[in-house]
Amino acid sequence: ESQLNPNYNFDNFLEGDSNRLARSAGMAVANKPGGTSFNPLLIFGGVGLGKTHLAHAIGVEIKDKYPEKTVLYISAEKFTQQYIESVKKNTRNDFIHFYQLIDVLIIDDVQFFSGKSGTQDVFFHIFNHLHQNGKQVILTSDKAPVDMQDIEQRLLSRFKWGLSAELQTPDFETRVSIVKNKLYRDGVEMPDDIIEYVAKHIKSNVRELEGAIISLIAQSSFNKKEVTIELAKQVVEKFVKNTKREVSIDYIQKVVSDYFQMDVSTLQSKTRKRHIVQARQLAMFFAKKFTKASLASIGSQIGKRDHATVLHACKTVDNLSSTDKQFRKYVEDLTKKLSL
Ligand code: ADP
Ligand code: MG
Repeated sequence: ESQLNPNYNFDNFLEGDSNRLARSAGMAVANKPGGTSFNPLLIFGGVGLGKTHLAHAIGVEIKDKYPEKTVLYISAEKFTQQYIESVKKNTRNDFIHFYQLIDVLIIDDVQFFSGKSGTQDVFFHIFNHLHQNGKQVILTSDKAPVDMQDIEQRLLSRFKWGLSAELQTPDFETRVSIVKNKLYRDGVEMPDDIIEYVAKHIKSNVRELEGAIISLIAQSSFNKKEVTIELAKQVVEKFVKNTKREVSIDYIQKVVSDYFQMDVSTLQSKTRKRHIVQARQLAMFFAKKFTKASLASIGSQIGKRDHATVLHACKTVDNLSSTDKQFRKYVEDLTKKLSL
């Protein structure tokens, strides 16, 4: 069985600036699976932005156009479980053989492979076989390949062979159309000003936006009340409160420089003085830990460094905090200050 969800298709995946590239690359792949340079096609982006939806849509469309092709959708987590099971049962070769016969393989959330070397190894072999035979591979991930951690280099380099397309946060217009389209399909009516109010305030995650709308409908029907702006305000407030606020990289740099009694400009400077380098590395480490920013973006905001420098900083902080007692104290103090 393909495991595809027919409710996730291109028709109900609304187009906007935030997803145009990924969506059209997906369409191109669906028209000619294995026959474009988008192989693998890697779709990446934050939670709730439509990666799973788009991955299914591509598979559904291929199955529609090419019924004879075998298409398989699987989460990276399930793939990993199946692999571990096959090792236990001594059927690793059957596992590999099964996957090598598929025409279109869709693996969702490949960041789950991080640190799992056995699974990465088996996937590497399956990938090579499929790719060499002109079969299509579609992957999704919460990060771009450059920001993936604990994934083997040889696999990362293959991820970059095809196209990496980002799903970004949809703008206001797109959020409104997504909600309107969903309500229309569900046969629910809601005044425009209310839809716009909710779409204005819930912006970083389509799943949450849909959740807020569903909760609004539920509350109004439960209380047998009209959906009003007041009710919308209450629902939005609850959603916004429940979403953890993210500390900014500026704020992290300020807290770290204050702690070491230096200026932010000193922390960002090119100096190699040990205590300043350490402060800078700590700022990078906390930016990685407490924000969703990519390594590249952290580097550029903390003294215009590259992503490799940030990665090195994170590793250094990890190492030092397990070997150096004073340094561990810095990490603990700063963690407390930043977690408020
Ligand atoms: P992800 O896998 O990136 O976490 P999902 O694919 O699960 O996100 O999407 C979350 C919800 O948002 C789903 O209900 C999906 O249908 C909806 N969604 C996301 N983007 C769009 C879009 N462009 N058009 C319509 N619905 C969307
Ligand atoms: Mg998903």
